[in-house]
Amino acid sequence: MPPRVLRTRSPLHFCTFALIQRPLPSRKSPWIDVTIPFANGMHSWPGNPPTVIKPHASLAKGDVCNVSVFNLNTHAGTHMDSPWHFLKGLGTMDDLPFEAVIGPCRVVEIKDQESIKPAELAKLKLKKGERILFRTRNSQVSWKKKSFDKDFVYVSKEAAQYLVDKGVRTVGIDYFSVGGFYKDSVPTHHILLGKKVWIIEGLNLAKAKPGRYEMICLPIRIEKGDGAPCRCILRPL
Ligand SMILES: [Zn+2]
Repeated sequence: MPPRVLRTRSPLHFCTFALIQRPLPSRKSPWIDVTIPFANGMHSWPGNPPTVIKPHASLAKGDVCNVSVFNLNTHAGTHMDSPWHFLKGLGTMDDLPFEAVIGPCRVVEIKDQESIKPAELAKLKLKKGERILFRTRNSQVSWKKKSFDKDFVYVSKEAAQYLVDKGVRTVGIDYFSVGGFYKDSVPTHHILLGKKVWIIEGLNLAKAKPGRYEMICLPIRIEKGDGAPCRCILRPL
């Protein structure tokens, strides 16, 4: 029979006691952050305003708290595109279904050093409704460059059409645009967004080996947005 004193205490008391006594296991988080951190001096698309973060109120200057001013464009860092980025009348970020960005996804390695092409995609056995993130040399090379890398690996317009034909739901790329800097920028966006394939750009997949993952990628809620910065995390399945 337990001592009387135990029966006089609430279950919450024992719960709290147990938590204090037993430290949480120091297991490494299985989640991989594939988001580019926002910072002054980060890469930005040529011609778009750069990201600027500056203090507004500061403890160091005697203010009661720190507050920063954050200046960015809707396609800065890791972000999503809505159809409204390139096309009229097909939807804005308000129309993003959460199913497009939460759920299983596949990280696939692209060997082609120029662009993603249908021949390489044909080996992947893509399925209708899949969320596909392309890991190219961009993840290892482009983000490490001092300035914007105009020669990043992109989705060719032929590959965009292939992805649409396969019924892929979401496409992620590991630099600023699904389309190239010199080639296929507009047609690749038109083909994907025209069929409401949701696009995640600006990922860094250096730490995400090819394989199956659970993805959570939530863009900030910008009303009628043409795009929106997002946080994207992956957990191996
Ligand atoms: Zn974009």
